[in-house]
Amino acid sequence: MRRDHFEVTHRDMMGRVGKLYTPHGTVQTPALMPVINPNIEFIPPSELRKFGAEILITNSYIIYRSDRLREKALEKGLHSLLKTDMPVMTDSGSYQLMVYGDVEVTNKEIVEFQKKIGSDIAVPLDVPTPPDADESLIVEDMKITLEREREAAEIFNGSDNLLAFPIQGSTNPAMRRKFAEEVRKIAESYGVRPIFPVGAVVPLLDAYRFSDVVRALLEAKSVLPSCYPVHLFGAGHPMLFALAAALGCDLFDSAAYALYARDGRYMTMRGTEKLKEMNEFPCCCPVCSSYSPAELRKMDRKDRERLLAEHNLYVSFQEIRTVRQAIRSKTLFELVESRIRSHPYLLNAWRLLKEGRYQEMLEALDPGIKGRFFYTGVESLMRPAVKRHHERVLNVPPPKSKVIVATFSSGLPADLYLRPCFGVLPAQLLECYPPGHAEMPEDSLIDGEAIEVAVEGFLKYASAYKNTAFEVHLLEEELEVWGRLEEAVMRVALDNVSFKVVKVSEDPDR
Ligand SMILES: [Zn+2]
Repeated sequence: MRRDHFEVTHRDMMGRVGKLYTPHGTVQTPALMPVINPNIEFIPPSELRKFGAEILITNSYIIYRSDRLREKALEKGLHSLLKTDMPVMTDSGSYQLMVYGDVEVTNKEIVEFQKKIGSDIAVPLDVPTPPDADESLIVEDMKITLEREREAAEIFNGSDNLLAFPIQGSTNPAMRRKFAEEVRKIAESYGVRPIFPVGAVVPLLDAYRFSDVVRALLEAKSVLPSCYPVHLFGAGHPMLFALAAALGCDLFDSAAYALYARDGRYMTMRGTEKLKEMNEFPCCCPVCSSYSPAELRKMDRKDRERLLAEHNLYVSFQEIRTVRQAIRSKTLFELVESRIRSHPYLLNAWRLLKEGRYQEMLEALDPGIKGRFFYTGVESLMRPAVKRHHERVLNVPPPKSKVIVATFSSGLPADLYLRPCFGVLPAQLLECYPPGHAEMPEDSLIDGEAIEVAVEGFLKYASAYKNTAFEVHLLEEELEVWGRLEEAVMRVALDNVSFKVVKVSEDPDR
């Protein structure tokens, strides 16, 4: 396998900003590929650059089936047919296979066709296994698809054009993982430039089964080295981009911008609105700043669809740029934690990352040092930075045999501080990332879980240093929040910890 086609330049969480090198130029990732239907005159490829597109995707099966398109593509090439000099990925007809159950082409024919017409990224005719399939069907489909992927790898061996190795496996996590392992072996045994799409997620996305999508993605990622580019095939809604990019997706494709427009649906980062129910456009793209929803409704169908699709593209590329910038500035956690609040099922999906195996994956790749830590809710407790601080502080012994402990927010002088989320914060780490840089709600207003985590951290620390006497100073008004620390200390019978309620007037510095 060749690895010279993908270069990572910035990382945050499991996400990355990178460069994908194709025969028709370099693409910044995460990238969004608008889907072009070569049969339908809509927004022409030449205009897609203005929205932010750097790569397109079309369907080679549609071209192959039409005599006119096929002959033109064979004679002049795919890029000439689409009148674009941008890189173009081609799908193979798998989608038609999923929808109609059959296609009139063999894998070999469609893969060779994609090679002949100069596709920058070709896709074998993989079999999309539907959600909730029996294991026997998954195994059967997997066997066929892997054979086809091997055949495609033979055809593309030594080619500079990229080849997709779709990963199927339905909603069975173990089978997704197994599939990814097998397909990785195939890709690695040929001289190909692979990308790895996670396939058949459209039915899951349509049903808002985001947890299944996240699991499929994480299982595939768990066996793919992080240097390989990954495509979430069929995920075209901007509300999903931040989350999927954070888990290591580099490519997205959108047919949704046009399909939604046809249905009168208006995309936002927070979900989808119906044009017929809208009074105002909450967006400042050229479409939304020129027209009102009422004006759009009055237009003829063709103009309306075109303008809605344009808005959908603007908002989609805006989110892709937002994601890339968040990765560069290492603020992707803050972005994802705000995006998952737009749908309860996204929140569900994100909470899967509490599972130990997934935590480890995230921890292995998330950078240790960042500029800031904004607490946005209980999900912030799942960040590796929190766990790392709790582990690290256990290796920082108390400075003397008797230490004063106070909350960070009280302003009382102390040797060790207590902070929600982080637990123990030795005075010498006050300037360190993350606890010293964290911005959080006040102790009395933060989620109870953030206090619990801090209490657990303190108990561990005080248990690790049994020969040290810890005198915890609390202000009277803090007792309601931090009083639970005293209860916890009593519960586990830690006799090296004592408590003192301090009145502010006793502190001469205040
Ligand atoms: Zn707009």
